[in-house]
Amino acid sequence: MSLPVLIWVFFVFITGACVGSFINVCVFRLNTERSVFWPGSHCASCFKPIVWFDNIPIISYLALGGICRKCKSTFSARYMLIELFSGLMFVSVFLLDVVYNVPNYNLVGMQSHQINQGLIPLNVWFTFISHVTLLSFLLTASLTDLAKMEIPLGITVTGTLFGLIFSTFQAWPFPDDIHSANTLLLSSKDWPVKPLMPQGTMAWPLWFPVFDWLDSHVYFHGFLASLAGIFTGTFLLRAIRFTYGLGRGIEGMGLGDADLMMMVGAFWGWQLVIVAFFLAVIPAFFFGILQLFSKGEQAFPFGPSLAISSVATFYCWKFLSPHLQPIFFEFQLLLILFAFSAISLLFISFVFRLLNNLRSNHVGG
Ligand SMILES: [Zn+2]
Repeated sequence: MSLPVLIWVFFVFITGACVGSFINVCVFRLNTERSVFWPGSHCASCFKPIVWFDNIPIISYLALGGICRKCKSTFSARYMLIELFSGLMFVSVFLLDVVYNVPNYNLVGMQSHQINQGLIPLNVWFTFISHVTLLSFLLTASLTDLAKMEIPLGITVTGTLFGLIFSTFQAWPFPDDIHSANTLLLSSKDWPVKPLMPQGTMAWPLWFPVFDWLDSHVYFHGFLASLAGIFTGTFLLRAIRFTYGLGRGIEGMGLGDADLMMMVGAFWGWQLVIVAFFLAVIPAFFFGILQLFSKGEQAFPFGPSLAISSVATFYCWKFLSPHLQPIFFEFQLLLILFAFSAISLLFISFVFRLLNNLRSNHVGG
């Protein structure tokens, strides 16, 4: 990595840590129904305001040894760790989107030489900003879900609105332009199998081939694709929540989870929401097992699993899309997929129910 890129990485980390500091405020105050912007930061035990130089993310915590300057009570390391995590999260997005170009944006590939000299195209910055915005909202939602077993509507609705705006102005295949993508895709006769659909800031377009009219109205296409993601996220998850509730006998998912996927859909589109939901079973399975052995039968927060799965799905889209493209652009196959998913979900929830019964019988006997 060149020196100019390293300097960018440093600034990106600082920005991320500052956003993490604000996320702390959001998580802490939204749970107690207080305003996010007023009053300013203050110590939780002596209520004295924290001066700006004691409020620098990560550094102040380390410099003060995690205690209040005035009353010497200790601050939880959690705040500092969240700032650190947020900083690293921003750096990861920067590395994935800009430096290593994992989604394979044409623009980043063409300008890799300039990017290496620190000259990052504006469109690429917009892509980065869109993605760190979503990830920040996902982190906030996951933390409130872990802390309080609920995701406040304020977080997800605000995030969804941001997604709608970003996606409108960054319609697929942003940061690349639609004409080069169309020429590539329409030149082939064996659509929908080949060639591979390029990935944009929003994973895929609403549909392909899009109507000519939508092609020339790029913003409207972005807006519609975002709306489709919003509806898929919220309705699919509500339907699944209903099915899951039937099988498991208790409410497995909160409505906050549907809101969370609505937000993901607003940024990344309807196809990604569906795939990410399926793959969320993997982290959820591990979290579920952990929960069973630590706290016993209890609904566990599903938000963090959905968030992890969504981000992983986006950055692995390149590897998943050769398998997904033949399904997602074929209507009948999509229907079969829906039926299969409903059945497998019921099965998994029954297995969990059985495990729970076995465990409680064992404890009882
Ligand atoms: Zn204090």
